Amino acid sequence: MPEGDTIHYAAARIRAALAGRVPEEIVTPHPRHARDGWPQRLAGRAVRAVDAHGKHLFVRFEGDLTLHSHLRMTGAWDVHRRGQRWRRSARRAWLVLRGEDWEVVQFDGPVLELMPDARTRNDPRLAALGQDVLAARFDERSFVRRLRAEDPARAFGDALLDQRVLAGIGNVWKCEACFAAGVDPWRALADVEDEEALAAVRFARERMRDSAREGFAARPRAVYRRAGQPCVRCGAAIRGRGQGENNRVTFWCARCQR
Ligand SMILES: [Zn+2]
Repeated sequence: MPEGDTIHYAAARIRAALAGRVPEEIVTPHPRHARDGWPQRLAGRAVRAVDAHGKHLFVRFEGDLTLHSHLRMTGAWDVHRRGQRWRRSARRAWLVLRGEDWEVVQFDGPVLELMPDARTRNDPRLAALGQDVLAARFDERSFVRRLRAEDPARAFGDALLDQRVLAGIGNVWKCEACFAAGVDPWRALADVEDEEALAAVRFARERMRDSAREGFAARPRAVYRRAGQPCVRCGAAIRGRGQGENNRVTFWCARCQR
C-alpha cells in the first residue's frame, strides 16, 4: 500500500512535469468518469500546485478546481516521457494529463474526484486528518496531544496507523518506526512515554524524507515482512501477527522491542 513517502514522491514528479503549465490534453478513460466532463471543465487551466498531505494527493488547477486522489491499496500515479511505454496497462488508466514532454497517468483509482479548492480543507474526511508526518514544520506537542486523546488501552502500533493521529504512516513505516524506537507495537498507549512515541515519529520523518526524495529503494527493511528471519540487532526471530481493525500484519522483534 502506498504510504506518505510514496505519495510525496509522486507529487514531486507530477509537479516537475505540470506545475505552471496547461495540460495539452486531458483524458478520463475509466467508465466511472466518462460523463463527468473533466476535460471540458479543466480545459485551458494551468496546474497551479501539486501537493500531498499524508496519503492524499492534490493537483490544484487555476480557477478553484482541484483533483483529489487517494490510492488505497491498488492505485498508482506515474509520470512517463511522451511516447514511453507505460508501466501499467492503458486499460487501467483513470486519468491522463498530457503535457508537451510528459504524460502523467493515474492508474486504478480508486478515489479520484474533482472538487472546489475550498473543499480540500473543509471536507470532513480531510479536515479530520492529523499532521502530515512529512510536514516541513512539524509540531511535536500537537502530535502528542492527538495521541493522548486516543483510548489509553489502544496499542501504540495501531494508533500510529490512525490517519487522524498522524497522516502518512502506513504498515511498513509503522513496523519500522516501532523497531527503531524499541517500542513493542502491542504496548498500550498508557505505557508509552511521550519521548518513546516521538522517537518513532522522528525516525519516520527522517527516513521517509529520504524515500520521498529518492523513491522506494531508500526504505529501511529491518522487520517488515521478515517474520521468522533473524533480527538485525539481536538475532532473535522476527514475529508477525495481524493487528487492528484491518488485521494488517505487524512485524516486530520481541527481544529488542518491549
Ligand atoms: Zn531484536
